[in-house]
Formats: sequence, structure tokens, C-alpha cells
Amino acid sequence: MVTKLSLDLSGRTEALKKIKQEVLALESSPLYEFRIANKNLPVIGEGAHDAKIMFVGEAPGKNEAATGRPFCGASGKLLDELLASVKISRESVYITNIVKDRPPENRDPSPEEIKIYGPFLDKQIEIIQPEIIATLGRFSMQYIMTRFGLADILLPISQMHGQLFETETTYGKVKILPLYHPAAAIYNRALLDTLKLDFAKLREL
Ligand code: URA
Repeated sequence: MVTKLSLDLSGRTEALKKIKQEVLALESSPLYEFRIANKNLPVIGEGAHDAKIMFVGEAPGKNEAATGRPFCGASGKLLDELLASVKISRESVYITNIVKDRPPENRDPSPEEIKIYGPFLDKQIEIIQPEIIATLGRFSMQYIMTRFGLADILLPISQMHGQLFETETTYGKVKILPLYHPAAAIYNRALLDTLKLDFAKLREL
């Protein structure tokens, strides 16, 4: 159970720093050894600490784990393009993932990893208090919809993307917008047009 936080901007920044320290010390994670062995960094999140829009991806890839920055590789380039297409600056939003450490071979995050890292994402949401959570890919869609009591209306992402779902949080209402993961558009360019149309919803909001 999360309690409602009321923080000014510097309080939010402090609370987010604390999360970083906790993740850095997360020796119990099955991804910890891999991070240390590869001299990788955990990827906590980046952007405005009072952002109205929060993007939630799955887990860091190779570039992200090397730099500690979310979405800075090929998927990030597409995310930047999509944001630019709706004239939303990357600095004005907050971008994070469910899982904060890179899974080996860039495989999908496991249920155990999602369980371990999910509470950090929950805290980030409570701190930043976004009005809109845009999920990138099916794992974050499933996590966020379930987290906010919408598990019973979950359908495959092909039937959920681009639709808005409003729900209650401890800090007020939030709108959830499931989106395809930008990486899907690297291999399927037709999805890029779908993503652009779905991103246009953010502009409308
Ligand atoms: N894919 C993700 O889901 N997150 C990242 O940060 C990069 C790629």
C-alpha cells in the first residue's frame, strides 16, 4: 500500500535519488551480478520530476545499461522521432522502465524481475504524480493496468493501443495510454504510422 506523497520539486528529486541508491544496492536482484560483471549501470529514469506525462518501457538494453539513460539506443531514436512528431519535448516528460537493470541478451523481463523492480516504478509514479502514463509495450501495459485495478479489461496490445483508460491513484486521477513499444516499429514500419497516430492522442490531451 502506497501512501500519498506531497512533495515540492526538490523533495521529488531527493525521493528519486533515494530510489537510485536503493536500486544500486539491490544485490538480491537476479540481474545484479550481470550488471556488475558488465560494468553496467542501473537505469532509473530521466526527465522532468514534475512531468505530466510518464513513459514506461520494459527494461534497459545494451546502450541504456552502458550509459544509465533510458531509451538512448535504436528504440530511443524512434521515441524521440515520435515525440517530435507531436511537438512534445523529451525534457518535459519522464521516461522510465519497469525493470531497472538490463536482462542478458535483451530478453523479455521475467515475472520475478517485474515483481522485484515493480515497487520502484510504483514509487516513481507516487513521487512524480503524472496525469498520463503512456506504456510502451505489452509488459508495461500489463503491469500498469494491473497496478491500477484494470486487469480485468486487459486484452492483447493490438486491441488496447491508442485507447485511454482513466483510473484513480492515491494522488488523484490518471489516464493510461497503452502504446506499442517503439522497437516493434524498427522491424515493422507499418507500426510506425500506428504509433504516430497513437502519439497524437498525447498532443490532444
Ligand atoms: N527498451 C526499453 O523498454 N527501455 C529502454 O530503456 C530501452 C529499450
